[in-house]
Amino acid sequence: MKIGFYPGSFDPITFGHLDIITRGAKLFDKLYIAISINPNKKTMFTDDERVDLVKEVVKDFDNIEVIKSDMLTVEHCKLLGASHILRGLRAVTDYDYEFQMTNFNHEISPDIDTIFLMTQGKYSFLSSSSVRELALFGGDTAPFVPLIVKEAITKKLKNTKIK
Ligand code: ADP
Repeated sequence: MKIGFYPGSFDPITFGHLDIITRGAKLFDKLYIAISINPNKKTMFTDDERVDLVKEVVKDFDNIEVIKSDMLTVEHCKLLGASHILRGLRAVTDYDYEFQMTNFNHEISPDIDTIFLMTQGKYSFLSSSSVRELALFGGDTAPFVPLIVKEAITKKLKNTKIK
């Protein structure tokens, strides 16, 4: 059984992530989506909120499991029997970081390989941070995220509005 592991912050999940997930799910018998938990990183959505949103968005896939991850990616892969880390690539700006991480992971765990799926052109500019920024300034996030994510962003901003 081929098991893949797709790690990320997903703060929040976008159509760019979903594209990688949809294509990745066809490559593996089972695909874990691992929501990174990093207490030092400030996120718009809490760990549980990010997990719940991703779960809702991928609920129709029968070979995907959404989990939290607060450990080294390669260690988590070993624990789950995953042979491959899945990552998405946008512009060259992603490349440096991904190249470094891939080589680092390979150094500490040569048995686990990383595969990259190139984003579709229409998502190449799309990131969670640009969605957050757009929302913060009152823009419409509908073209970039699933409806439940858009609604969650609206609710979040309403509840955290500076008075
Ligand atoms: P991280 O904090 O690990 O970068 P992200 O949630 O930003 O977490 O991204 C997780 C993965 O999804 C990364 O491999 C990233 O390159 C990929 N990704 C993010 N946005 C897109 C997009 N628009 N198209 C393709 N891949 C994307």
